[in-house]
Amino acid sequence: MAEAYKIIDHTYDAVVVGAGGSGLRAAMGIAETGLKTACITKVFPTRSHTVAAQGGIAASLGNMGPDHWTWHMYDTVKGSDWLGDQDAIEYLCREAPKAVYELEHYGVPFSRTEEGKIYQRAFGGMTQDMGNGPPAQRTCAAADRTGHAMLHALYQQSLKYDTDFYIEYFAIDLIMVNGECKGVIAMCMEDGTIHRFRAHSVVLATGGYGRCYFSATSAHTSTGDGGGMAIRAGVPMQDMEFVQFHPTGIYGAGVLITEGARGEGGYLTNSAGERFMERYAPHAKDLASRDVVSRSMAMEMREGRGVGAEGDHINLHLNHIDPAVLHERLPGISETAKIFAGVDVTKEPIPVTPTVHYNMGGIPTNYHGEVVTLKDGDPDSVVPGLFAVGEAACVSVHGANRLGSNSLIDLVVFGRATAHRIGATVKPQTNHAPLPKDSADFALGRLDGYRFSKGGSPTALVRGAMQKTMQSNAAVFRTGEVLEEGQRKIDAVYQRMADIGIADRSLIFNTDLIETLELDNMIPQAVVTMHAAAARHESRGAHMHEDYPNRDDEKFMQHSLAWFRDGGVTLAQRPVHNYTLTDEVSYIKPKARVY
Ligand SMILES: Cc1cc2nc3c(=O)[nH]c(=O)nc-3n(C[C@H](O)[C@H](O)[C@H](O)COP(=O)(O)OP(=O)(O)OC[C@H]3O[C@@H](n4cnc5c(N)ncnc54)[C@H](O)[C@@H]3O)c2cc1C
Repeated sequence: MAEAYKIIDHTYDAVVVGAGGSGLRAAMGIAETGLKTACITKVFPTRSHTVAAQGGIAASLGNMGPDHWTWHMYDTVKGSDWLGDQDAIEYLCREAPKAVYELEHYGVPFSRTEEGKIYQRAFGGMTQDMGNGPPAQRTCAAADRTGHAMLHALYQQSLKYDTDFYIEYFAIDLIMVNGECKGVIAMCMEDGTIHRFRAHSVVLATGGYGRCYFSATSAHTSTGDGGGMAIRAGVPMQDMEFVQFHPTGIYGAGVLITEGARGEGGYLTNSAGERFMERYAPHAKDLASRDVVSRSMAMEMREGRGVGAEGDHINLHLNHIDPAVLHERLPGISETAKIFAGVDVTKEPIPVTPTVHYNMGGIPTNYHGEVVTLKDGDPDSVVPGLFAVGEAACVSVHGANRLGSNSLIDLVVFGRATAHRIGATVKPQTNHAPLPKDSADFALGRLDGYRFSKGGSPTALVRGAMQKTMQSNAAVFRTGEVLEEGQRKIDAVYQRMADIGIADRSLIFNTDLIETLELDNMIPQAVVTMHAAAARHESRGAHMHEDYPNRDDEKFMQHSLAWFRDGGVTLAQRPVHNYTLTDEVSYIKPKARVY
């Protein structure tokens, strides 16, 4: 197999796959420790999905009112519906202010208060005083283009370090030798050359798999490639049933209107013009956490109070807000609403509907970014050489539901933590054991198989079937019946991969081939999402199971692990870390989650 393709060999101490916020922060940090580092990315770094983040990044700076990292921790644990690991959450919230100041020093042009401090806005689920106080203004923002500002600053900074960038290279598969990760095989999309990267550590920073769904706010490149590679390497995926629907995707287009819009005073109404969130979350109202708001909107539509001829959307009002504030704080979404909904936000409401936005589940890791698996009864067994960060990973700080603005902070805090771990465990220029002769065969076999595939199912058709199935059978509300049908349907879609047929056989920017490899990464994740959802007989966070409307801590305060092998799913549970990292904060005990 290898003979048919030209293979170019590279040797590094560490390789990072992905150049979004998490990948860049990790790569910079690793290079800073003196290790020889490569960063591989299928799109130009500043085109990674992080660029689209709008609302902001959470840290308890306390610039706009009282705040403390333990309050941030409380909100994150509660937001996670007690499925987050409290050691990791403590680490996140404690490190967050430092990470934001670091970004400030890197040159992120944060919006400012009168006194020149970093501006912070209110976001859903962020409160003062361990949930007892009013909303906390904790989300640091650069207008409504925070991700853009952050990604550009991180890319500029990373050029200062000695990282080799491989841009528009598509990582195909990990090189695994006896359960240890030894590198990665990638293809240069421009000329079709195959590159074998040998490394002591490989970091998967490949982002989410939102594109498994038909309507998602994420980029078309958010195809969960890291998850696909990990699954094929025998690593289980964790908590995949938890898929976040953002309440305010623009109706039809799916493009996001940031939660910051409600943070600045925006509110939702139904067809009767009623501010219905007051009924569902009397305290936090429109700033309840995302799963709660999405579900409330879905209830309104289901009960016939949706807006429009088909009653299939909800109105988001910003028209009562001073146009000067809109211009200063929300310029991007004012433009987006005009382009994608034809709406002037100063005059009319924006039609919105819950849209797939974020994957809480992913590749399980500890708070050092090390990938963990269940092995010989040890649920925290580290997979040597393999790391994951960002949306691709499940640390797990977001548990069953992520709070808005907690992802950007996750990227930089754990990107940095991963770099520290690699810096502490790999000595520069340590010798590499020779790789087995067939180390590229697995990746090339898959590549070659799809490149010359002649089946009757074009990639786009199979992808469409997957996306429609996920959209209708793994949505905001789930029932046993719908999920059972979903399992049958998604398993059948998976079978169609054997019948894939592509038309382009070349190796020069063969988008047909790349999209097929992406689909091959998405499908197993769609399958395990559906199966894990069907097996969770409770309602928690983003997983609302109508046959089991209550949370069941006794049976299900457990992470789910899902292996995908030969078309079949194996499920197991992994205990939630019900302990903190230090004695400075105590374990936050489960209670009912009301807003
Ligand atoms: C519209 C939108 C708005 C958001 N707003 C906010 C917000 O305001 N606050 C917040 O906290 N969160 C927000 N989020 C969530 C947050 O932005 C994302 O979770 C986060 O940016 C993901 O970053 P990442 O580093 O994990 O990956 P990404 O930024 O998605 O980058 C993935 C990287 O992996 C590379 N890659 C993937 N596959 C391969 C492969 N096979 N080979 C080589 N390279 C590969 C890509 O080239 C890319 O560089 C938002 C998300 C969306 C979609």
